[in-house]
Amino acid sequence: MEEINLKILLVGDTCVGKTSLLLRYIDDDFPDKHLTTIGVDHLLKSFEFRGFNIQLQIWDTAGQERYRSVTNSFFHNADGILFVYDVTNQNTFEGVKNWIEESEKRGNNAKKILLGNKCDLKHKKKVSDEEVNNYCEENQMDFFETSAKENINIKEAFEKIIKLIFTDKSDEEIKMLYGVRKSNLTTYLEKDDKNR
Ligand code: GDP
Ligand code: MG
Repeated sequence: MEEINLKILLVGDTCVGKTSLLLRYIDDDFPDKHLTTIGVDHLLKSFEFRGFNIQLQIWDTAGQERYRSVTNSFFHNADGILFVYDVTNQNTFEGVKNWIEESEKRGNNAKKILLGNKCDLKHKKKVSDEEVNNYCEENQMDFFETSAKENINIKEAFEKIIKLIFTDKSDEEIKMLYGVRKSNLTTYLEKDDKNR
């Protein structure tokens, strides 16, 4: 089976639950603390989709949540971005809008979706559905409310971003675009490490 390599980013303010979403998706685990010390750039997950062996390389902004400290190499070659805010914190919704603008400024044309995380905290919800729906309509983005804690909509969100990446592409195009990139993505990673 043909191997397809995709680079997916988790982007948003600190403490919105990016690392928790990642670990829930990868390991089905929810460590109940702020995970600043995880110390990895990306994790891998593989599965079958549309007859391809999909290898996701998922990048997390570990402790680099201020825009300027995120390197261009983080956005470089990204195929999909999951933008995350915390439904109980209005500031993080403002923050995620800045993140979306920033990624567009950097000329990134990855597929994008918006995640409102911590939807298990219903009684503490601050960001209104109306505001989010309007924003998503204006910016033509799909939206999911997720909970890393209760494992809500996480698999669905990752599946959605893969579907968006594959939409309107023939199998041939997919092979050409994503089939031989593993070494490219890895080379880029190593180069980036040397620059730190
Ligand atoms: P990051 O800075 O965006 O990577 O956020 P973390 O994944 O480290 O999570 C920050 C805090 O929010 C931690 O205390 C998590 O346990 C908590 N958290 C993350 N996701 C959820 C969620 O879906 N629901 C609730 N209630 N708490 C969450
Ligand atoms: Mg984190």
